[in-house]
Amino acid sequence: CGIVGYVGPKQAQGVVLEGLRRLEYRGYDSAGIALVDGGAIASDKRAGKLVNLEKAIDEAPLPQSTTGIGHTRWATHGAPNDRNAHPHLGRERRVALVHNGIIENFARLRAELEAQGHEMLSETDTEIAAHLLELEVDAGADLTVAMQRVCSRLEGAFTLVAIDAQDPDRVVAARRNSPLVVGLGEGENFLGSDVAAFIEHTREALELGQDQVVTITREGVAVSGFDGVPAEGHRYHVDWDLTA
Ligand code: GLU
Repeated sequence: CGIVGYVGPKQAQGVVLEGLRRLEYRGYDSAGIALVDGGAIASDKRAGKLVNLEKAIDEAPLPQSTTGIGHTRWATHGAPNDRNAHPHLGRERRVALVHNGIIENFARLRAELEAQGHEMLSETDTEIAAHLLELEVDAGADLTVAMQRVCSRLEGAFTLVAIDAQDPDRVVAARRNSPLVVGLGEGENFLGSDVAAFIEHTREALELGQDQVVTITREGVAVSGFDGVPAEGHRYHVDWDLTA
């Protein structure tokens, strides 16, 4: 039910966990995080409150990383347990993905992947999207193009955010019938299901349109349609009073 993404000079773990905390008000049953770690994905995910995840990370610390994604889940497909919590990974653990919403045609895509020998580790509608993305990047697409192609095949409502272990300075997200906002920083950029995810870091925001993909790096933000045609989000300033 909450999504966070970060790329910049700071430690992503802190930014992501703080963002998830600020999204707690939306409700959730599990939480997870994934970081890019020198060509690999480091990840942890736990059923229950954020504090369960934080405790697990205290006991088995994650590597330092400046690129990461986080998720709080409100289960729709599969029980709220550690296995079904997000992030979900592709079969080579190269791509990590979080998802809010429901992928309506997941059963058909899952059957297709299983027929090709893919083994799913969860009961979620989400995991197929991680496998599909990884197949695209393995075939040579960059993560942005991979996201455009995969989203064109999905039906339903989704906000997706993904990282590729072999492309450590990029976080890619997409939305259809589900919210996604970009936080525009200086030398860093953020993603969130709403501005609460990054409000303490920046008040400059970019709202994505329907069926759009966004790529954030330290230096910039690029938006396109699922068809790959460049697009522009709607930029605005957040004037919440945080002390209110
Ligand atoms: N449908 C996905 C799941 O059950 C995502 C749920 C959510 O929006 O948190 O895992």
